[in-house]
Amino acid sequence: MEALERLLIDLSDIPHTTEPALVRQKSRDFFWYSPVLNRQLHGCSAQAVISPRNEADVVRVAAACFRHNIPVTARGGGTGNYGQAVPLHGGVVLDMTALDAIEWQRPGMLRVGSGRKLIDIDRETRPNGWELRMHPSTKRTATIGGFIAGGSGGIGSITWGGLREPGNVAAARIVTMEATPRVLDLREGEAQAVNHAYGTTGLITALEMPLAPAWHWIDMIVAFPTFMDAVRFGYAVALADGIVKKLLTPVGWPTPDAFRQVRAHCPDGHAILIAMIAEPSVAAFKSVLVRRHSSGTITFERPTAEAQGEVPLYEFTWNHTTLQMLKRDRSVTYLQALHPAGRLLDSVAEIETLFGDELIPHLEFLRVGGQVTASGLPIVRFTTEERLNAIIGDHRARGVSIADPHVFTLEDGVGHKQVDADQLSFKRHADPHGLLNPGKMRSFRAVE
Ligand SMILES: Cc1cc2nc3c(=O)[nH]c(=O)nc-3n(C[C@H](O)[C@H](O)[C@H](O)COP(=O)(O)OP(=O)(O)OC[C@H]3O[C@@H](n4cnc5c(N)ncnc54)[C@H](O)[C@@H]3O)c2cc1C
Repeated sequence: MEALERLLIDLSDIPHTTEPALVRQKSRDFFWYSPVLNRQLHGCSAQAVISPRNEADVVRVAAACFRHNIPVTARGGGTGNYGQAVPLHGGVVLDMTALDAIEWQRPGMLRVGSGRKLIDIDRETRPNGWELRMHPSTKRTATIGGFIAGGSGGIGSITWGGLREPGNVAAARIVTMEATPRVLDLREGEAQAVNHAYGTTGLITALEMPLAPAWHWIDMIVAFPTFMDAVRFGYAVALADGIVKKLLTPVGWPTPDAFRQVRAHCPDGHAILIAMIAEPSVAAFKSVLVRRHSSGTITFERPTAEAQGEVPLYEFTWNHTTLQMLKRDRSVTYLQALHPAGRLLDSVAEIETLFGDELIPHLEFLRVGGQVTASGLPIVRFTTEERLNAIIGDHRARGVSIADPHVFTLEDGVGHKQVDADQLSFKRHADPHGLLNPGKMRSFRAVE
């Protein structure tokens, strides 16, 4: 009997499917954003999807998969880019979405099952005056476990920095991949072992997340004649610590032409700045605009609306900006850059001039190590892989780091030969046979 058949007999009481269309669907994420990954990962699939109902099921699945030597790729909402949730070596996709209980809430802190959707977390905490410190633009579909294992930051990072900043993940509870799986509570710094490790270092069952005060957020669009005008105003607001904000996103023309639901608020030929500002800070925001950046015009001002049928402005920011363009033109792709904080405006202007129409600029202001800087997520008019690599090289040569979204290993993503040393050594204990999402941590060698 095949190992997989034996596995499914062992776990027959846990919900699972081998229905090929469903398994293929649950083996995909948004890797198709990249023409390179679209070619490489096309056709990769698991053989079964198992849907644990609770942590005890996760422990049983881990033990059985270890016994039968079957790879396991965890999955939340499946919104990751770079093929993070795509099984390269078949096996089982572990659908974690049923582990969605809120275990407890305290002022400023929450403990929640890893499969809970981000939007549902905020819905539970906001009535108590709290919300997640940050979320990706996929808040309405992604899970908290997938965000920690696959994401990096997003809406809120202008105030709180990225997920990697100390203090942004309080604890992670994980199940290891061993003959007798252990359940470990990783607190504070220890939790970095699973942060952005693509599920290669443990199966996250629950998370303790620090919260932020929940403000009444106002979505704003400000139109400017040039992209650099939008950047300079965004930077001024980013540096203004007295203005409470969650999002500052300059986007160059013609990308706003693809923003169907808010197109009427994006004047032809203009760059825009998308912002989320706490209601009590809106007057100060407008004051900075009028007094110091008078070329800008507010074209949209409305409370953030997230209910079904509504479109919050954050769904035109971060990686959604690229998605909006891809809906119109499937030939474009994107990059993820980080400009040096010390010469931010010069660096942004230099890159804009260097590539002309080949790159349409888009920035996200954020804090890194306490300093305000900006991540660039430009739209790239794709021609060839060689040209794409040359563009990446041109950025790096100018001190702009690139997290390459056209590769699927952790190492290649950051352009390092080896993965984070702590994550690598943790994996040797948590997954000695390398069965968790194999192929994503290239530096790992299975322990005999
Ligand atoms: C349009 C668009 C916009 C995006 N915007 C942002 C953004 O603003 N910021 C950002 O950081 N990312 C962004 N992303 C990437 C992605 O949406 C987020 O990182 C999201 O939080 C992933 O959550 P998910 O539940 O969909 O995870 P999945 O895609 O299901 O999984 C992501 C990774 O985590 C692993 N994983 C999932 N659950 C677990 C678990 N319980 N235990 C262990 N490993 C697990 C998976 O194996 C995979 O490697 C964007 C993607 C798209 C397509």
